[in-house]
Parts: sequence; structure tokens; C-alpha cells
Amino acid sequence: MSTLPSPERSAEEASALTYPLQASPLPGQTIEVAPGVLWLRMPVPGSLNHINVWALEDGESWTLVDTGMQTPDTAAAWQSAFAGSLAGRPVARVICTHMHPDHIGMAGWLTRRFDCPLWTTRLEYLTCRTLVADTGREAPPDAIRFYHAAGWDAEALEHYKTRFGGFGKMVYTLPDSYRRIVDDMELRIGGRVWRAVIGRGHSPEHLCLHCPELRILISGDQVLPKISSNVSVFPTEPEADPLTEWLDSLAAIKVRVPNNVLVLPSHNEPFYQLHARLDQLIDGHERSLQRLRQELAAPRRALDVFGLLFRRRVAGDLLVMATGESVAHLNCLLRRGLAMREMDAAAVAWYRAV
Ligand SMILES: [Zn+2]
Repeated sequence: MSTLPSPERSAEEASALTYPLQASPLPGQTIEVAPGVLWLRMPVPGSLNHINVWALEDGESWTLVDTGMQTPDTAAAWQSAFAGSLAGRPVARVICTHMHPDHIGMAGWLTRRFDCPLWTTRLEYLTCRTLVADTGREAPPDAIRFYHAAGWDAEALEHYKTRFGGFGKMVYTLPDSYRRIVDDMELRIGGRVWRAVIGRGHSPEHLCLHCPELRILISGDQVLPKISSNVSVFPTEPEADPLTEWLDSLAAIKVRVPNNVLVLPSHNEPFYQLHARLDQLIDGHERSLQRLRQELAAPRRALDVFGLLFRRRVAGDLLVMATGESVAHLNCLLRRGLAMREMDAAAVAWYRAV
């Protein structure tokens, strides 16, 4: 749901990060990664395989961070955690880093089960409500126009129409109200201060949580150790420039969060060397932008640059993500004045370097 295979990374880059924990938790089990900070893993279908979620001791209760996708397997994993390591304390609050279904999917289930509030940022909450409301609707002409312009053929557009509105199936009915978290806000959890660090680009108002006392950063999908988070343009805002927002967010995190934190990411394992990873992610995208600009010596459609940006063959359900990510890179070049776009007579967009 949240990621595509990243552009190639050198062995040198991969070895810059260190992973202090020897094992990862099985579904329903926990590993304490710092005093009062428990790591759980929820199963996710497909190549993503899992999502990490966190239970923070909060007085006599738990504060949970992220929830897993709505599936029977996730419900079973939560039930065994509540019967096991989490037993004896209720959940007092559910925090979600962002609105993707692997993160927020079970928030409604958990908040109802424990009669507790959902805390997240305003744009994550409202965007999620909007996407859930699309479930069961027909694919709108705006979306067809967008993907046609990217170069999709009739068969791909037909597949999109049949799949449209699947988001809500992965998300348990959201609570009808929430508690808003804003950037730099201090949350007191278990007697410790956790500061909100908002990022953009992967999702509209993504929450990270930094605890200076524990030297921990819960990074969500904003900083992942082994995959490059999906940064996409979607048909609802075709002229958006999420890649610039993404790069600016990564640079801001490097200023705001010290390098000595243990990073707790949503996918793969907790790691050290936050700043090296931020540099890798920024450099990787800048290199992609350079290669893309060279490729645009001749006119290209969004569809034509997949081979340059992704290692994996793009087909089926990956098409939306790959198109979104390609348009994100192209819109960034447009914004920088390094490329231009022309629509042909068939309403397909062609990009070339300036
Ligand atoms: Zn995500």
C-alpha cells in the first residue's frame, strides 16, 4: 500500500545503518525496545508483509501508535496481544501516524473496543474520511482523464474502474470525531514528553513522534530503512508537487531530530543513523530527478519513465503507485523550471527537458 521498490542503493549506503535488535516480534507478541515502549507486528497482505505498531505504557493504560490493516489476521493478532503481553491495562488512546490503511485500518475497531479517542493530525483524519466515502462510487472522469494523460491504455483504465473505491474495505469504520495533533505539540505519555514532528509528501500531514528523554523517534512511513516510501500525485490534485514537500520534510527532520535516536519505522527493523538515512533518501530522489531530466531529451509520457524510476516490472495494481510516483518526479521538474509539458491532440501529456 505504501511503498514501491526503491531506486538502486549501493552496498555502502546499506551498511551505513545499524540494527541493534536481534529478533522481531511474531504476530500477537511484543518486544520491549525501550522502557515502556513495546514493539508489535501486524500482518499485511502482499509484498509489504507486515507493519510495526507500538504500545506505550501510559500510567495504568496503553497508548497505541498505529493499528494495522483491517483484516481478520490483524484482529486475531491484537486479540492475542490483549490476552498476552498487553493484558491488565486498557487502551486509553490510539494515535495514528497517517491515514494509509495499514496504519489506520483498525483504529475504529480499537477505539470502539476500548471506548477511547483517536488522535492524529487534521489532514490525515479528513483525507481518510474522504477516501472512505469514495468506496462504492464509480471512478470519476477526473481520474480517468488523469491516467489517460499519463499514457494508460484502455485495458488499464478498465482495470482501474473495476478496482476503484477499494480503500474503505481495508479500513474499519472510523470514529466520527478525533483529537487533533499539530506540529511541535508536546504529548505526555507515561510521564515522558513526546514531540510531534509533521512531515509531508508520502501523506498529507504525517505524524512522527520524538521522545528526547528516551532518544526514540517513531517515524511511521516518513523514514524507512530499506524501502523508499511512495510519493505520489493523485487525480484529486493533479498539479500537486509532493516530492518537493517530501524532500523539504526530510531536510527539516535532520535539523529537528538528533542523529542519536533509535528510529522505530513502520516497516523493517528499528535502526540507528537517522541522518545518514535521511541523506540517502534525499540523494536517491535527486539522482532520480537528474536521470529523469536526461531521459527527457526526447519527449516522454509518465508511463515511459517507469523503467528509469523502478527496478520492478510495473503491472496490475502497481500501476497507480508507479504512475503517481512518476508524475510526482515530473511535476517536481516542472516546478523547478527544468522540464515542460505539452498535451497532444489525444489529451496525453508529453514532457521534455527545457
Ligand atoms: Zn503510508
